[in-house]
Amino acid sequence: EDRYRQLVEESPDAIGIYQDHRLVFVNSTAVKQFGARSAAELLGRESQQIIHPDDRGKALDRLRRRLAGETGLYPAEVRYLRLDGTVVLMEVSATHIVFDGKPAVQFIARDITDRKRAEATNLQLAMAVEQVVESIVITDVTGKIIYVNPAFEKITGYTRTEVLGHNPRLLKSGKHDPEFYQRMWAALARGEVWEGRFINQQKNGSLYEEAATISAIRDASGQIISYVAVKRDITERLKNERLALRSQRLESIGTLAGGVAHDLNNALAPIMMGVEMLRMQYPKESGIIDMFQASAKRAADMVRQLLSFAKGAQGERVSLQPARLVKELENLMKGSFPKNIQLVVRCDPNLPTVLGDATQLPQILLNLCVNARDAMPFGGTLTLEAQCLEVDATYASSIPEARPGKYVVLRVRDTGTGIAPEIIDRIFDPFFTTKDPDKGTGLGLSTVMGIVKGHGGFLQVYSQPGKGSTFAVYLPPDCSRLGTEFVAKTEVEFRGQGETILFVDDEAALRDVACAVLRRLNFTPLSATDGADGLIQAAEHRSELLAIITDLHMPHMDGLAFVRALRRMLPDIPVVVASGRMEDALAGEFKSLGVTSRLDKPFTEVELAEALKKLLSTK
Ligand code: ADP
Repeated sequence: EDRYRQLVEESPDAIGIYQDHRLVFVNSTAVKQFGARSAAELLGRESQQIIHPDDRGKALDRLRRRLAGETGLYPAEVRYLRLDGTVVLMEVSATHIVFDGKPAVQFIARDITDRKRAEATNLQLAMAVEQVVESIVITDVTGKIIYVNPAFEKITGYTRTEVLGHNPRLLKSGKHDPEFYQRMWAALARGEVWEGRFINQQKNGSLYEEAATISAIRDASGQIISYVAVKRDITERLKNERLALRSQRLESIGTLAGGVAHDLNNALAPIMMGVEMLRMQYPKESGIIDMFQASAKRAADMVRQLLSFAKGAQGERVSLQPARLVKELENLMKGSFPKNIQLVVRCDPNLPTVLGDATQLPQILLNLCVNARDAMPFGGTLTLEAQCLEVDATYASSIPEARPGKYVVLRVRDTGTGIAPEIIDRIFDPFFTTKDPDKGTGLGLSTVMGIVKGHGGFLQVYSQPGKGSTFAVYLPPDCSRLGTEFVAKTEVEFRGQGETILFVDDEAALRDVACAVLRRLNFTPLSATDGADGLIQAAEHRSELLAIITDLHMPHMDGLAFVRALRRMLPDIPVVVASGRMEDALAGEFKSLGVTSRLDKPFTEVELAEALKKLLSTK
């Protein structure tokens, strides 16, 4: 009897007996677990008094079945109310017995409140680890993988079963030397936390970069039992940083190029105009003069390209049909490209028109097609495509210059050499070329980039070394859809009748040549060295003065200040502004002063004549 009593009383689990739904026996553990001071406080209590209301229905049901004689011990989790009202969770097994000759139910209950709480915490931890975006890898002390989370599977392409038991070196890309890993393991073995970046390889072979923190996990005795690596895929972030860096670099090169181009223009202008006069004076030397002219023109073209890169498009905007652009280029290529290059042209019907500069947009395609040709010295296929595409918000967010919406896409694809990944970031830099000096200037793509940006578009390059490249130009469609077509300029012969024209420029050489040209066009030239001088000349000759051509950037008094002052004296006199480039704001200022005629520096005799003709015919 004593032994049995001891066995029951000192059991670590609560033991009790119900009869007629009342407690008729409890051991001392039950007294403790229910928060009673003595067994007497519990005895006689109804079962439903001590079971939590939410569990009452089910628990009483079980109790009734047991009482009716059901046997078989299987535990259930039941919440009980202690005498002070707090809740305790117990795992209860109950069985039918006969007690004092009457049917009864005996139960054994174990407090599992703490265990459950720990389990819930563990579950939360496990869910967090399973759901974070960082990939988590746990290895044992020998480096064998014992756990990876789903983010790891997603980033690497390996499933859990494929990597368990393996060493994380299966992700090695070969981009780090053996010392890199040795240093890492040495730090880990010393119990230090290792932080660094890996270039790793996915299952499909593509490389990705991740920032990792690896630390040792220790048991209660301080012994290292495993290592945990938490890694974040930073491939995308690094790509965006590189893109931002590239556009910053291009911007600063653009500013630089703009400045240089401006000075070059001034240096070229006298040559371009002087050549025409030399030809008149030395008809026998036309060969060498032709060469001068061709060289100067080539230099001027380069400057123009540089400027369009520096500032983007600035010419007059007209509505252009992409199909026409493509057709024009196709004709050009058919005539001049080698026969071993097969041309494929695809153009969606009914493409929206784009608002653009009628000389710059064809230039984009021309530059890209010439590059494609150069990339296929042994022949291949050049595909020229035009289509209309919707750029969605996700795609747009991956490209700094792109905004979501409709775009006309012009695509030039070749099956040529392709572009090595090491240089693909630099191909848009001005003067970057891999071609021989007589073949390439390195300005083609930078010009394309400048024009595309100036038109509110953006550019994408895809290339596979050895297979070919695709350049895709995205241009926003013209919303007004005017559909007007560009009409090609025809050269006009225009001469004056001795009228007086004032030419204001701080470059002596340019003044001399301009005056000579004006004389040849049968005008009477006057010149001034800056705005202040221009005002004096204009005042002196106000009665016979027909028009004024002025430079923009001059010391003492610049073009704008000059015209402002001039307007007070001669409110209606026609004025042409000669400049290499002009910001929109400045153009607006001139417009408000009634000046809309512009002459792009460096100009030729024909261009000067044309500007004057246009100006004087509208007068
Ligand atoms: P250029 O053609 O005068 O060299 P670009 O700015 O047009 O100047 O091009 C710069 C460089 O980009 C080229 O020298 C070439 O290495 C590379 N490139 C451009 N387009 C292609 C292409 N379609 N295929 C291969 N490489 C290209």
